[in-house]
Amino acid sequence: MSLEDIKQRIEKAEKDAGRKVGSTQLIAVSKVQPNERVEAVLKEGHRLYGENRVQEAAGKWPDFRDQFDGIQVHLIGPLQTNKARQAMTLFEAIHSVDRPKLAQTLARLAQELGNCPDVFLQVNTGEEDRKAGVMPADADAFVKECRDLDLPVQGLMCIPPVDEEPSLHFALLAKIAERNGLKSLSMGMSGDFERAIALGATHIRVGSAIFGERAYS
Ligand SMILES: *Cc1c(COP(=O)(O)O)cnc(C)c1O
Repeated sequence: MSLEDIKQRIEKAEKDAGRKVGSTQLIAVSKVQPNERVEAVLKEGHRLYGENRVQEAAGKWPDFRDQFDGIQVHLIGPLQTNKARQAMTLFEAIHSVDRPKLAQTLARLAQELGNCPDVFLQVNTGEEDRKAGVMPADADAFVKECRDLDLPVQGLMCIPPVDEEPSLHFALLAKIAERNGLKSLSMGMSGDFERAIALGATHIRVGSAIFGERAYS
């Protein structure tokens, strides 16, 4: 797969769903990928990327930002409160706000720094013990709490259980977003982004289908 192929598949999925072409943002998930591969995609003109670790992003993106204009990097992985300050300056959006303590820390830092990345609240739609995110039943209260903290809440994010049909989870996330008046949905990865688009994804997070398999060392 290449960036062009993925873009064509996105456009087709948008049309099939009766959605406006261009209404889905493609986050190219560059975690663990060698810099040459990321640079190749930057040279093709793509500017929106996703990383799941603060440390890794800090080592990679400042240099790329010096070389290429208009880069946006979104944090899509878990954020420890002690890395929140660093995350505030590295990312244009944080998709993994998953607990009140983190929301409170981000709000305090936003006050202090005078700006804040866009915030997505992660919902554990599969209610999995080992997965981050608030439970679906707690999502409405968490949205309200984050709004009361003046965080710029854009939308919701989920990572469905690997062994279940993702569409059920995408539909649940869309429903929670709608009843809370949230317009952005971060859902869908390499294996299921077309299904996510069909259910209203505004931000899809695609890694291996663009860059190839990740070689973890
Ligand atoms: C790694 C990752 C992705 C991308 O996964 P692919 O299957 O390679 O597309 C998407 N979302 C999150 C949260 C990830 O950690």
